Amino acid sequence: MRLESKVAFISGGARGMGACEARLFAAEGAMVAIGDVLEEEGRRLAAEIGEAGGECIFLPLDVTSQDQWENAIAATVLKFGRLDILVNNAGVGARNMLVENTSAEDWDQVMDINAKGVFLGTKAAIPEMRKAGGGSIINISSQLGLVGVDNSSPQYQASKGAVRLLTKSTAIQYAREGIRANSVHPGPIVTPMTEGSRADTQRNEVTIQRIPLGRYGEPEEVANGVLFLASDESSFMTGSELVIDGGWTAQ
Ligand code: NAD
Repeated sequence: MRLESKVAFISGGARGMGACEARLFAAEGAMVAIGDVLEEEGRRLAAEIGEAGGECIFLPLDVTSQDQWENAIAATVLKFGRLDILVNNAGVGARNMLVENTSAEDWDQVMDINAKGVFLGTKAAIPEMRKAGGGSIINISSQLGLVGVDNSSPQYQASKGAVRLLTKSTAIQYAREGIRANSVHPGPIVTPMTEGSRADTQRNEVTIQRIPLGRYGEPEEVANGVLFLASDESSFMTGSELVIDGGWTAQ
């Protein structure tokens, strides 16, 4: 198994891509903790993984809170004994808006979850990874953290760009301690986050036109990349960007 005896924490793991990663990691032998604001979904998923023979716990977590991050990482180590892998996956989308129509509150809300949440998670995890003798941090950015687009929002794009560079900074600062950090850049994926835009025929058509492979990606297609970065198979990779976007940024 590719994650035999490793301990992983996945933020935003109650649904969507994070949930897919939790199932895959557990099937590959990891002990998994998922942290999310969605308690019911999170507890249900942890139970489902347990029934399938995996090891998974749910921990309530709002990624904007430093205290909650510290408690969640401490609870993970208390339960499973160590921390090897952190997937900073929790995130929110934002309505398509021009810069001049975006309020400071809109900006702060998305930056707090998508960018500060990754910083706080990384900060809480590093001391435990150091104790474990190394680790792998996987930060979920977006193809919109690499290129601009006319129908997103300034704060979403800025937050995902911030995740990209925070990843490189983390990678360089902790490489000598065996702690790796890489970012993942999914294109449009079939998850609850894109439900609204997929249901809007016109928006959906515009999005699909922009994807060279001509379709949305499935959560499994991202989770497989995240699994690779989490495992020792990617042991010489740090500070890199794994783009899983159906060709969006190749154009
Ligand atoms: P999703 O909405 O299905 O899942 C996101 C999860 O994050 C949810 O479980 C949600 O409750 C959790 N979350 C939100 N705010 C939180 C907070 N403050 N504290 C803790 N948890 C919180 O979305 P998804 O598509 O699975 O997105 C996962 C990640 O992938 C996000 O960072 C998203 O920006 C990114 N992404 C998504 C797409 C896409 O097309 N779906 C594309 C590129 C990047």
